Amino acid sequence: MDMKKYTVFLVSCFFALGAFAQNDTTQKIVEGRKNSAEQQKKPYVILISADGFRYDYAEKYKATHLQQLANEGVQSPYMVPSFPSVTFPNHYTLVTGLYPSHHGLVDNYFYDRNRKEFYSSGNKAKVADPTWYGGTPLWVLAEQQHMLTASFYWVASEAPIKNTRPTYYYVYNEKINIHNRIQTVVDWLKLPEESRPHLITFYLPQVDHAGHQYGPDAPETEKEVHFVDSAVYELTKAVKTTGLDVNYVFVSDHGMTKIDREHPIGKPDAVDTSKFIVSGDGVMVQLFAKDPKFIKDTYDQLKKEAKDYQVFLSTEMPEKYNYSKADDRYNRIGDIILIPNWPNVFNLNGRKLNVGTHGFDPIVVKEMMATFYAWGPAFKQHTQVSPFKNVDIYPLITTILNLPYTEKIDGTTKLAQQALK
Ligand SMILES: [Zn+2]
Repeated sequence: MDMKKYTVFLVSCFFALGAFAQNDTTQKIVEGRKNSAEQQKKPYVILISADGFRYDYAEKYKATHLQQLANEGVQSPYMVPSFPSVTFPNHYTLVTGLYPSHHGLVDNYFYDRNRKEFYSSGNKAKVADPTWYGGTPLWVLAEQQHMLTASFYWVASEAPIKNTRPTYYYVYNEKINIHNRIQTVVDWLKLPEESRPHLITFYLPQVDHAGHQYGPDAPETEKEVHFVDSAVYELTKAVKTTGLDVNYVFVSDHGMTKIDREHPIGKPDAVDTSKFIVSGDGVMVQLFAKDPKFIKDTYDQLKKEAKDYQVFLSTEMPEKYNYSKADDRYNRIGDIILIPNWPNVFNLNGRKLNVGTHGFDPIVVKEMMATFYAWGPAFKQHTQVSPFKNVDIYPLITTILNLPYTEKIDGTTKLAQQALK
């Protein structure tokens, strides 16, 4: 995933572990589960994420299969990612209906004050540790109600959150080719009714990889958009052979923009690492004071020094970010937050910068916006819905599958009302 670049320079030993674990390509099955008689009658949903598939890529690169499928069903001009517009927080928002500050994955890489340790999307052990994750992911909600689920990858699907994994899942790897992945989905849908999953998550990393390495306007990125376009078409064609009328929700986590690599922002002089733990780089840097008495002076100095970036106290973060001290349920947001002005980024350690990145405020940088298309028997046809926040995906899918929930979420049913028959 797109955090590999951070992994390499921050925690190279963890990257080695991650690469080793990538060799596990076997399907995991939780034995002893069955759909209840009531759940067997429910619809089917395949939730697809194409990482970094910017809101305008289908049109820009003429992804004709996706455009046709979207035209048959529901589409939005764009979907608004949660802040920060990066992979792990947003994938987990999509399946919990909670903002990152509320579900606990506040970044791909972050410091936890209470635990006095870092989470990293590149660290397989931490990724599989359920104690990092709040909320109730869709597959957990379904399994709790005796509806089976399957995952061909999704952030947090490898962790037994609330002691529950999807019935069928894989440890994330990029070794299994797309045809085998699609065949596995078909095999799941051909299982007897009592063991057939009703919710399947499916994740495609290729467009994000190319966007980072070559930029959003490169032919390499165009090629991966066409790869995703073909993969989704092949998937829908293969699933048709099962005779099941399946609902599809196609989303992305964020967009992609070209950055200014010529003028990276170095470590501000005001940041004293004997006084602060520094977390992050690139599109956001967070400072955790070792003693609260250090905050005021450093903040004042940073405000004076700041060029090409904004300085915020966590207590005064603009409301639109949903990322303030008051939102911070897991105590994982820094006391001082530094956010570069697009197209500038931080480069604290002199690493080689990619051409493209994401993580900026989507309200300011439209290229951060994500994609939403949906089609299938539950959805209206030839329908355009207004742009919405990605926290609304959770209630959309719980409505289709008729899965009640009691925990308070950030999403609303506005999208479900507009998109569903
Ligand atoms: Zn991503």
